[in-house]
Amino acid sequence: MYSFSCPRCDQLVFFENTECLRCGQALGFGPDQLTMVSFVEGGGPRHCANQALAACNWLVDTASGGPSQLCRSCQLTRTRPADGDLAALSAFADAESAKRRVVFQLLDLHLPLTSWADRPGGLGYDLLSSNGTRVVTGHLDGIVTIDLAESDDPHREQIRQEMGEPYRTMLGHLRHETGHYYWSVLVEQVGRLDEFRALFGDEQADYGAALTRHYNEGPPAGWADRHVSAYATMHPWEDWAETFAHYLHIRDTLQTAAAFGMRIDVPDIPLSAEPAVQVDHEPFESILADWLPLTYALNAVNRSMGRDDLYPFVLSPSVVEKLTWVHQTVAEPVPQPAG
Ligand SMILES: [Zn+2]
Ligand SMILES: [Zn+2]
Ligand SMILES: [Zn+2]
Repeated sequence: MYSFSCPRCDQLVFFENTECLRCGQALGFGPDQLTMVSFVEGGGPRHCANQALAACNWLVDTASGGPSQLCRSCQLTRTRPADGDLAALSAFADAESAKRRVVFQLLDLHLPLTSWADRPGGLGYDLLSSNGTRVVTGHLDGIVTIDLAESDDPHREQIRQEMGEPYRTMLGHLRHETGHYYWSVLVEQVGRLDEFRALFGDEQADYGAALTRHYNEGPPAGWADRHVSAYATMHPWEDWAETFAHYLHIRDTLQTAAAFGMRIDVPDIPLSAEPAVQVDHEPFESILADWLPLTYALNAVNRSMGRDDLYPFVLSPSVVEKLTWVHQTVAEPVPQPAG
């Protein structure tokens, strides 16, 4: 994420702000410009129709002439809780807030993005309450389903502990499930299946059998040598989704650190990092060279506050190889013909 300033008084403002806390200027996020812009009543872009319902601060460009009253992020939501379901709507607002970060990043990375509303198989989100009905978080044919109960901190923490996971967040869920959509866009549809299978395994393996095996037997011993998480061992599709989500974690966190001018320079040991805001054309190797020192420092900062590590992961060489390939597919969404 970038750092933003008020267009009127230069005060630091955040991605979620609807006004400047210093000068009172009404603000909104402009998805076309990818920055915070001044909002003027009665002219120019208007606020998204979900402003009250989902605390959405994105703007809708009236000049584009589209019929939608919803912003680019909210348009991607196909199903949401009913108007009267106040508890679910509160969780929905939290999920939409995390989703705006995902959509921002997809736009910032220039990833191909077709909405479910424009084409079958396009990206869409069903954000559903599991209160009274069964909702399984997952992805099918472009549609991401999220169980809004995951917005509830005690509930999510309980599941995290039961599953023995080091990290579980709504943002992480959204990145993982969105990653399944990008498997079809960046791998399947553009003829990268052979390369994919060489690194991640054959995705034609029976998914149902893999799921049953994973929940009965757990991950294989030594899984961390080849996988970014225990869940990634379940099936090559899950390995991709976990690795893709992890890639988005790295890119976003590194970009935020760069946007705030963070530098790592430890005098007594050779540990330094000078992250940049835009690294689209950098090799993944140099992204990683900035990332690792930053994570050591941020983990140490968290420990000083008595918190768990910000980044509770270790990247094996095999995982780095997969992340490097994900970076290539993102940097070059349509591969160049060989020769
Ligand atoms: Zn201001
Ligand atoms: Zn919106
Ligand atoms: Zn998955």
